Amino acid sequence: MREKDLERRLTEYNYPEGIVSTIKALRGAGYDAFLVGGCVRDIMLEREVVDFDIATDARPEDVIKLFRKVIPTGIKHGTVTVIEGGMEIEITTFRTESGYSDARRPDKVEFVSSIEDDLRRRDFTINAFAYDPLEHEFIDLFDGVSDLSKGVIRAVGDPVERFREDGLRPLRAVRIATALGFEIEMRTLIAIGETLECFKRVAKERVLDELRKIMRAVKPSVGFEYMRETGILEIIFPELLEGYGVTQNEFHAYDIYTHSLYSADFAPIDKPLVRWAALLHDVGKARTREVREDGRVTFYNHEVVSVRMAMVMLERIRFPKKEMEYVCNLIRWHMFNYTPEWTDSAVRRFIRRVGVDAVADLFDLRIADFHANGLNLGFPPYLDEFKKRIESILEAGDAITVRDLKVDGNDVMKIYGIGPSEKVGRVLNELLSVVIDEPQKNEREYLLNLLREWAQREGDED
Ligand code: ATP
Ligand code: MG
Repeated sequence: MREKDLERRLTEYNYPEGIVSTIKALRGAGYDAFLVGGCVRDIMLEREVVDFDIATDARPEDVIKLFRKVIPTGIKHGTVTVIEGGMEIEITTFRTESGYSDARRPDKVEFVSSIEDDLRRRDFTINAFAYDPLEHEFIDLFDGVSDLSKGVIRAVGDPVERFREDGLRPLRAVRIATALGFEIEMRTLIAIGETLECFKRVAKERVLDELRKIMRAVKPSVGFEYMRETGILEIIFPELLEGYGVTQNEFHAYDIYTHSLYSADFAPIDKPLVRWAALLHDVGKARTREVREDGRVTFYNHEVVSVRMAMVMLERIRFPKKEMEYVCNLIRWHMFNYTPEWTDSAVRRFIRRVGVDAVADLFDLRIADFHANGLNLGFPPYLDEFKKRIESILEAGDAITVRDLKVDGNDVMKIYGIGPSEKVGRVLNELLSVVIDEPQKNEREYLLNLLREWAQREGDED
């Protein structure tokens, strides 16, 4: 794309009413006001704009006076959010900043009076534009449009210095390159390897934010490859590197590492947890790899080892516990081996183990896993048939969880003469096992009798 064409998109873009009125209000009160950062970049790339950020020389206390609906998001850092035309718009006072080291936000900011000084603190040339949609004034101090047209991520100023100021920037470079399909310019790329000490000190929450954004890109593998080449991966996920160059067997064209990355790419873009599971589902393979006497390579029990390793890895980046458990459950069961001989009971047991809500995601994981074997075998065999059998079983309304039983914990407690305890759950699960094998036994009277029998027998044994 030519530079002139990129700039023309800024003038032709249809700016939302809320943006226009906010900038008018600031200008009307005698202040400067520009659109800045990611939104200017995304308009030129014709990408969907996530959020519009406005920079101004007005101080936060003055901004507050100008608008009716204001949220004081981060007054100390110069940011307030105003609600205009139904949108939330962040307005930030021109500033410089220092000392990010391990905080989420800069420790210290200093307000400055010119937009140019504000742009100088920004990380990459394509993130350092300012644009005034009323006067069509476009400011590009660092040849960002040229980088944008070439698809290049380049640090503003000396990359080593900028990465030492804020150790998250290297990962931001990787993330933005991955999201946009850009390349990181050579000096900027080399600087990542030279400043890893600073990256190590960055707050885990900030790292996780960027990793999540990498997982939302079309090809997360691009980001992980950048991380491997620069040394970032060695710091956050050294476990993934254990599979680097480690060959597999006749079911795979790629080494373990590459297969993991491609699995994440093939998982649905709108299912980030499936993508995490895909990335980590085989991480235990390097540790379980064995070459048998006949030369066959096996990875016995790798799914269990993968779960253990995934927990350590995800805890390291402060992944929320609930989500971690969901991801690990998918990893745990990704090796299911359906054949048409499976009985209905076996299918019900499978659904029970995996969880009704997780079955569809497990299928998506399996499909991604299969596509990422590099053998071009089309679609995993029997998966469609298995899916249909699961659907018909769910439609039949057969009991799959203890909640589907015609008796509940109260019945168990009454009949056993016990209070709420672990045992209640255990007994209900035993009932479920009976019903899963023979669904017609899910009748209240039958189950109550069975409970009485069990309680009686236990009493006799004591
Ligand atoms: P997106 O919103 O698409 O994730 P973005 O570029 O808008 O990407 P934000 O995190 O929203 O990223 O930041 C907005 C702008 O603030 C950036 O475009 C950049 O100019 C500046 N910025 C953000 N984080 C940093 C940082 N760590 N160092 C320097 N400048 C930064
Ligand atoms: Mg943004």
